[in-house]
Amino acid sequence: MKLWEDKIRQVVPYVPGEQPQIKNIVKLNTNECPYPPSPMVEKAIREYNTAELRKYPSFVCRELKAALRKTYPVTDDMLFLGNGSDEVLALCFMTFFNSDKPVLFPDITYSFYDVWCDLYNIKYKRVPVNEKFEITPEDYFGENGGIVIANPNAPTSICMPLESIERILQNNRNVIVIVDEAYIDFGGESAVSLLDKYDNLVVVQTFSKSRALAGIRVGYAMAGKELVDALEAVKNSFNSYTLNSLSQTAAAAAANDVEYWEDCRKKIMATRSRMIKELSELGFETLPSSANFIFTTNKNVKAAELFEFLRSKGVIVRYFNKPRISEYLRITVGTDGEVDRLVEEVKNFVG
Ligand code: PMP
Repeated sequence: MKLWEDKIRQVVPYVPGEQPQIKNIVKLNTNECPYPPSPMVEKAIREYNTAELRKYPSFVCRELKAALRKTYPVTDDMLFLGNGSDEVLALCFMTFFNSDKPVLFPDITYSFYDVWCDLYNIKYKRVPVNEKFEITPEDYFGENGGIVIANPNAPTSICMPLESIERILQNNRNVIVIVDEAYIDFGGESAVSLLDKYDNLVVVQTFSKSRALAGIRVGYAMAGKELVDALEAVKNSFNSYTLNSLSQTAAAAAANDVEYWEDCRKKIMATRSRMIKELSELGFETLPSSANFIFTTNKNVKAAELFEFLRSKGVIVRYFNKPRISEYLRITVGTDGEVDRLVEEVKNFVG
């Protein structure tokens, strides 16, 4: 044994979906947008003055905040930007969850939450979702050290109504409640409208899904000024320049093109309905989805076997070999052509 070995922190990391570099695959495993970003993003990148890269980026992010204000009823001091919502969430956990009581989140949810808790030694408790995989607000009314809810939840795709989020907030005035809205743009109602009423609410969103910019890594939190100031202080104790200037430019261009964004979301939601219908004709039961992915099962099919079959045909979906969900597949909504290929291969398997 080397003498430094016991000085190294041991962690079990989050494992993201694979990014295979194979041509002609249908990649439906990481909930990326199947469409390119707004043409305004390409224009902004082409026109970007590379001489600017000499300098550190702006940490005020004025242009990007102004673009976000077009869509959300917030002021600049209510916006916190980061390098993907994963980083924003990681900083939120570090800033807001410092209690002896456990942080609560659903047993089936984004599997990064327990990883951050372990990393920062935050106590946590997984609250079981019901047999329909729904979150029960009352389960979050007891004593706790904070709450994090993905809405819509992942990988279930189910969205809670805003009234339920509000009831959780009403019953938790003394802790921070984080609502992770990575998938809110595909049919859910954002909690951003509750920010005026609840100074303990943090809403986190991303450019990775509905704005088709997973590659530039931009996420943001919206919250009252006090919470944003606290986040800024922790961020500035860690890395002052988390968001690079080229990403800021690209994200601002995307946020300014509201029409393209609306169009993209609508197309994805329409394809989702068709995908659910065609799979149901093959015996699949799909949870009600408000996300850009579906969570589906078939009594006559072993999910792990279908996953492997699809993979061998170049259709990559996500399989979680975990309690309660090991007979489900999570499938991203692709383009119409991609969904056609998925359904065709599923048909071949079901036979
Ligand atoms: N929250 C949830 C629920 C997610 O599924 C994801 C995507 N893996 C994220 C946050 C993080 O997304 P990003 O870091 O790309 O903004």
